[in-house]
Amino acid sequence: MIKVGIDPHSGFCGGVIRAIGTAEGFLAGHGGSLCSLGAIVHNEEELARLAALGLITIDKSDIGALAPGSTVLIRAHGEPPSTYEALHQASVDVIDCTCPVVLRLQKQIREASERAQVVIFGKIGHPEVLGLVGQTGGTALVVENVAGLQEAISGGQIAGDGAIELFSQTTKSPEEFAEVAAALEAFAGGRLTVHSTICAQVSGRHRQLAEFARSNDVVVFVSGRSSSNGKVLYEWCRSINPRTWHIGAASELRPEWFHGAASAGVCGATSTPRWLLEQVAAAIENLH
Ligand code: SF4
Repeated sequence: MIKVGIDPHSGFCGGVIRAIGTAEGFLAGHGGSLCSLGAIVHNEEELARLAALGLITIDKSDIGALAPGSTVLIRAHGEPPSTYEALHQASVDVIDCTCPVVLRLQKQIREASERAQVVIFGKIGHPEVLGLVGQTGGTALVVENVAGLQEAISGGQIAGDGAIELFSQTTKSPEEFAEVAAALEAFAGGRLTVHSTICAQVSGRHRQLAEFARSNDVVVFVSGRSSSNGKVLYEWCRSINPRTWHIGAASELRPEWFHGAASAGVCGATSTPRWLLEQVAAAIENLH
């Protein structure tokens, strides 16, 4: 019989818990529906559960068509100023669930852009990153890795003089951020100020997950395919334990993954609901 355990630190982060709790509270109190600007969480299973309660996911192109007086929720990732302006023009009510950690980062970046060139280590096009770049009027440079940074340097996109301030998207890998910071420092030297802005709930996860991945024969990582944090943490787990598998739902489990294993660990991203981890753990037990 295989021993199956769930990582005690996996599950929603504070920002996502707050946004989902706010949406559930609104739907319970007002009935009807609530529009979320973008997916409230990058997890298809949880989105289906919330859709059944009345949460409708819309995107920015839908704002103009909203009935005045309808209510729109801004998710934990935050939004650029242009989105607030569009919502104001549409005369809709806004429930702002931008995570306080992201709000603080937006403010830091806004202020930094007035005195320095801002470089953000993050995923190009990620909603949080779009919100961050929006604070600088679009002037911040986003780099995804050291190769991207080197390209920007050789292309002259990073100033040869003047101050530079480096920030990170909240859900990136601390190890990769350190590599990017070292490479930028090699170019800019004392002109560079590095701000460690990876969320504490994410940076601590790498160490905790490494211990968890090491202590299990097989690891099943559960997250939606669109979760950026999920991809980072899955790769991290797999680098520690090569018998790590990535799934979105229990139906994707394969019995052959567990051959000869005495223990299996189930873990997930900051966007993976606890109930889904429990469902996957029960399904692994039922395979045996
Ligand atoms: S990962 Fe951290 S910063 Fe991002 S939403 Fe969650 S709590 Fe907020």
